[in-house]
Amino acid sequence: MEAHCCDEMRRQVERVCDQHPDRFDCPDCLVHYSPRFREYELIVHDGGSSSCRIGFCPWCGARLPNSLRDEWFAEMERRGIDPWEGKVPTEYESAQWWAARPAEPHAAADPARLSATESRSPNGGPGS
Ligand SMILES: [Zn+2]
Ligand SMILES: [Zn+2]
Repeated sequence: MEAHCCDEMRRQVERVCDQHPDRFDCPDCLVHYSPRFREYELIVHDGGSSSCRIGFCPWCGARLPNSLRDEWFAEMERRGIDPWEGKVPTEYESAQWWAARPAEPHAAADPARLSATESRSPNGGPGS
């Protein structure tokens, strides 16, 4: 279960209808949420799978969390995984890979900074 900014947003991203198994086909579905990238997008109903990323919630006006897309690809690269080959670990298919870790300062979303601090031990050190 993921935290969204407001109930309306949660309703919108979880909305599924019987007639349209593919949400992009459903005129009632307005927002698409990509858990793995933590991205919110408006669905562009042009018959394809176009979407338009949004930075703020259309209902409550909250600033939506930073996209983790760059970080996700940086993480794949670090692990030597080619995401296009379909060998992505399960936790990276969902929000699991970022939801489990402690909230990071916004600056950490910068992949360049991430690799610069890579050699240092993470907060808390290894658990036992
Ligand atoms: Zn529908
Ligand atoms: Zn909201």
